[in-house]
Amino acid sequence: MIPAAFDYHAPTSLDEALSLLAAHGDEAKVLAGGQSLIPMMRFRLAEPGVLVDLNHIEGMAGVTEEDGHLWIGALTRHAEVERSDLVRKRYPLLHEAASVIADPIVRNRGTVAGSLVHADPAGDWGAVMLACGAELEVHGPDGQRMVPIDELFVTTFMTSLSPGDIVTGIKLPIAGKRSGGAYEKLERKVGDFATVAVAARLELDDDGVCSAAGIGLTAVGATNLRAQDAEKALIGKKPDEAAIDAASRAAAEAASPTADNRGSVEYKRDMVRVLSARALRRAAAHAGGEG
Ligand SMILES: Cc1cc2nc3c(=O)[nH]c(=O)nc-3n(C[C@H](O)[C@H](O)[C@H](O)COP(=O)(O)OP(=O)(O)OC[C@H]3O[C@@H](n4cnc5c(N)ncnc54)[C@H](O)[C@@H]3O)c2cc1C
Repeated sequence: MIPAAFDYHAPTSLDEALSLLAAHGDEAKVLAGGQSLIPMMRFRLAEPGVLVDLNHIEGMAGVTEEDGHLWIGALTRHAEVERSDLVRKRYPLLHEAASVIADPIVRNRGTVAGSLVHADPAGDWGAVMLACGAELEVHGPDGQRMVPIDELFVTTFMTSLSPGDIVTGIKLPIAGKRSGGAYEKLERKVGDFATVAVAARLELDDDGVCSAAGIGLTAVGATNLRAQDAEKALIGKKPDEAAIDAASRAAAEAASPTADNRGSVEYKRDMVRVLSARALRRAAAHAGGEG
């Protein structure tokens, strides 16, 4: 199917893009990589009358460490995260997740921010950003604000952002001296959306005790989920097998999967336990803990 008719705008500045969104209200949609929006338009699941293409605005892409945090510009493609040396060396969770999103064609076009705003519970970045405690920098009609990732997802394909908002970047805590992360994704075949996936991030203190933990779940609820009880099970403990087992069981409890052609509720819940344990062991090993 071809999409319904729409007007196309290619602003060259953020202000121009914001003005276009303000002028067209609910009728307008932002276009980034188009890897989710265009298929939705082709299936007529989305019929925006106006598209505001962000791709001609300079300075909105890139992955950098600055002012004590990691910054991912909103137009950064999945492939740019995957290929970044900085990410590979210091943020293994991000590197691993970027490498298993879709296929190289989608990774070359799709953006991290577009994936978050699309709010697909089977999207990989949502779980990663929940595990990392990321914040989104958002510009809207009332100026700039930061939106914590915990406040972004409302339900499937719905966020707390307004139609006039543009995400300009994502801010993550900088990797500590002893931090580690891992992404475990179960997929039916390479390039598929997750049957289940788990993002894990750990920070250890000088004694090898967990000072911070983040666990995000993919494809087991109406949104990506944060397994907070599982995180609590790790704080103040060394990430040994007993602690990892307790946290993995708590992560499985936090999952709320539905049965489909990828598996039953019981299977998916148990895979959350299994993948959480694997991700936590590898995150601990990266951080120089037991794992
Ligand atoms: C074949 C295929 C396989 C895929 N497999 C996976 C997978 O395994 N894992 C996975 O996570 N994803 C997968 N995806 C989705 C892919 O990652 C998309 O790139 C991503 O979900 C959307 O990013 P985008 O830049 O293409 O956004 P677009 O499609 O351009 O936009 C998506 C939504 O976000 C909004 N938006 C985009 N950018 C902004 C912004 N800066 N500010 C405000 N709103 C914005 C748009 O208005 C739209 O509502 C797959 C897609 C395809 C086509």
